[in-house]
Amino acid sequence: MKYTTKALHSKYPKKDVYGALRAPIYQNAAFEFESAEALEDVFTGKESGHTYSRASNPTIEELESKVKSITGAIGVVATSSGMAAITNTLFALLKTGDNIITTNKLFGHTLSFFQNTLIDFGVGVKYVDICDEESILNAIDEKTKVIFFETISNPELIIPDIKLLSKIAKEHNLLLISDSTMTPFYLFDSKKYGIDIDILSATKYISGGGTAIGGLIIDNGNFDWEKYANLEKFSNSFGKNAFISKLKKQTFRNIGACLSAQSAYMLSLGLETLALRADRTSENIKYLASFLSNHQKVKSVNYPTLDGNKYKKFAQEYFLFAGSVLTFDLETKDDAYTFMNHLQLIRRSTNIQDNKSLIIAPYHTIYCEYTQEQKESFGLREGTLRLSVGIEDVEDLVNDITLALEKI
Ligand SMILES: *Cc1c(COP(=O)(O)O)cnc(C)c1O
Repeated sequence: MKYTTKALHSKYPKKDVYGALRAPIYQNAAFEFESAEALEDVFTGKESGHTYSRASNPTIEELESKVKSITGAIGVVATSSGMAAITNTLFALLKTGDNIITTNKLFGHTLSFFQNTLIDFGVGVKYVDICDEESILNAIDEKTKVIFFETISNPELIIPDIKLLSKIAKEHNLLLISDSTMTPFYLFDSKKYGIDIDILSATKYISGGGTAIGGLIIDNGNFDWEKYANLEKFSNSFGKNAFISKLKKQTFRNIGACLSAQSAYMLSLGLETLALRADRTSENIKYLASFLSNHQKVKSVNYPTLDGNKYKKFAQEYFLFAGSVLTFDLETKDDAYTFMNHLQLIRRSTNIQDNKSLIIAPYHTIYCEYTQEQKESFGLREGTLRLSVGIEDVEDLVNDITLALEKI
């Protein structure tokens, strides 16, 4: 079966007592048991079941099992946010003295977690040029455990050579972890390209309508946990499920970053239409990227599959299409703001991959805490605008953009 059929028809883990056609929302904290023995059996793991919704819940389990069936992963943990997926993953895998290799061109709060939180726990973070093999190889030492990267960086839209990262990770027994938020599983088969753990902010493309905050941790089953000393105990007891078991029995349960049942339900709904929405935005963004490139008031457009973009080859090789976010430059901040303020349809907002098209000037907002030099190193200028393209009728988006550009 292909994506949408699986998303619609993957079986609910247990039969609903009323035969509800759509799995209900179990908005409750605790579960009761027929006998003292039955309660013990679930606590000790002899029987599967739910005891308390911080640890697990049927509505959340349904979302996880749908994602598992769609991706072919061996295990999935849904979390309260994309950030919770990132923090839980790294807390489960790393110990004081370990280090990870990544780039400083990351989603801002991920970078802030690395720079301000992870290092307080004595974990080293080495920032390299993620597109340069030498730079990565030079950073690896005996304490390196992980290579962490984003499939397409936001907002610079850098695409690393994922096959090369996978080769380096394999040769040095490192875990390859991707944040695939910009290219969720319908767009990108992370398992096939050798990614060990795939992390997503489900808030974005999966929710679709921007209905809930949520995250996903996906273990593709590519990594042999026997080769990972930090998880030795779990590998001895749970074999290939070592990482997911550590999350569920320790890190995730203890940190308490559980998703609410209501949010899990919204995200399950979003999963079902992800492919339809993605196909539509794929058409829309290709049209708008080319329209903006040909407009005389637009200085430059950055979208990976445009001619001349240096990541075009990787974008075409790895992804169904290069995601629904592009950036473009107007001459000045003044022009950018005049343009934004005259938009009637496209919304001024910080989110991405919503059903609605959204626009923001990242230099002055998301990155306002960084210095001018840092912002320029992220490829941002005063007149840069980030446009997240939605599923509207493209003629209406073109009209809105055309009229607003006339005002500058
Ligand atoms: C939004 C985002 C996150 C964080 O996800 P939340 O659900 O907002 O916590 C992480 N990585 C990327 C690439 C994102 O766009």
